Amino acid sequence: MTALLKELESTVGAAGVATGEAAAEQAFSPWARLGRPLAIVRPRSTEEVSRVLKAAHAAGAAVVPWGGRTGLVEGAAAEGAIALSLERMNAVEAIDRTGSTMTVQAGCVLQAACDAADEAGLFLPLDLGARGSATIGGNISTNAGGNRVLRYGMMRDMVLGLEAVLADGTVVSAMNRLIKNNTGYDLKQLFIGSEGTLGVVTRAVLRLRPKPTSQNTAFLAVDGFDALPRLLRFLEAELSGALSAFEVMWPEFYELVTTEPAKGKPVLPHGHPYYVLVETLGAHPEADAERIETVLGEALEQGFIVDAAIAKSQAERDRMWALRDDVGQVARNGPIVTFDVSLPIPDMEAYVARVRADLTARWPAATCVVFGHLGDGNLHVIAGAGDRSLRHAIEEVVYAPLRPIGGSISAEHGIGLQKKAFLDVSRSPPELALMRTLKTALDPKGILNPGKVVG
Ligand code: ZN
Repeated sequence: MTALLKELESTVGAAGVATGEAAAEQAFSPWARLGRPLAIVRPRSTEEVSRVLKAAHAAGAAVVPWGGRTGLVEGAAAEGAIALSLERMNAVEAIDRTGSTMTVQAGCVLQAACDAADEAGLFLPLDLGARGSATIGGNISTNAGGNRVLRYGMMRDMVLGLEAVLADGTVVSAMNRLIKNNTGYDLKQLFIGSEGTLGVVTRAVLRLRPKPTSQNTAFLAVDGFDALPRLLRFLEAELSGALSAFEVMWPEFYELVTTEPAKGKPVLPHGHPYYVLVETLGAHPEADAERIETVLGEALEQGFIVDAAIAKSQAERDRMWALRDDVGQVARNGPIVTFDVSLPIPDMEAYVARVRADLTARWPAATCVVFGHLGDGNLHVIAGAGDRSLRHAIEEVVYAPLRPIGGSISAEHGIGLQKKAFLDVSRSPPELALMRTLKTALDPKGILNPGKVVG
């Protein structure tokens, strides 16, 4: 190992390697355990990533790619491994205004990439709570979702091309800039959402969009689950594609984020069964504002909603989003387990009722807080029963009802180490076998992010 570390140091420079206590101290994430890496290595170029992997491959040493370390499923856990941090590869290399693309290095922080697009008069639509730390490479490797999937899709839908380094150091450059390109297998898809188990993403070409010039945000109260999908479809149709967010909060969530010690104040009174945060993005500020007012008026008349507040300033909009983003308040319920499930909207009401009933049947004092991107069929369920050791038992309760309805145990957070034991709830044996075939073909020594996903 000493010989390997020496080689890595000569590749990336002494300033690019941390070992021992220094590595342990830097291996920090507020969200998940990262373990104690053998070393943290920070290459400055694709060429250096390639040399690091080649050396690690020859030595049979495990390599765990690191982005912003904001993942929630221990996909970056690096106990005893070489943590390969792309943080020094953080440049926005080019923006093509005519072609509407951005070429960016994997270590670029999401917010910085969004700001660069904005300065060029364009729009990178990915948006999520960890925008200030998460990196483009991490967003690609985990196929990040977030708040605007309803309109713009997930990270996968924004990647035109990418460059990745394979386990043995081979550089696969697929920096495609074309929207249409059916020339055989779409290799970039192997590296999108595979959590660094098949290769290390080093650069990417992202598709940019026209910059919206109007943004309208409203907070709605809905008095029955039935009205939620009807409201969603009504808004989609009436706003002709401008709807970019449809975030639903169950009352337990709304009460947590609008009562002390939370800083948030209620936008609408407590006591409604559902609260919805909706947002539209458009190109005609005055007309768009009038349109959403008219459409929400109709929604009120038709009984899809029972109350509404429209943000009249950026400060009001920020206050609405701050409630949705203040997920940390759920920690007030004691030891909790966070879930990120996907399921068909028609099955949602019964699913949530079943999970609640099963939790309280086993643990009468159990808590269950639900919110999420209902427009995408994605719910975040946060459950607890007062004891950390109940984690696995709670997971079984939340995941089991997903199997018969074809639901997913991970909508946008990934599998990492944390959800591996339940992957078969959402994937059939032939699917799992094919995943293992791909893993073995691309990483026969199993050095890339070992133990994660299907490893
Ligand atoms: Zn989410």
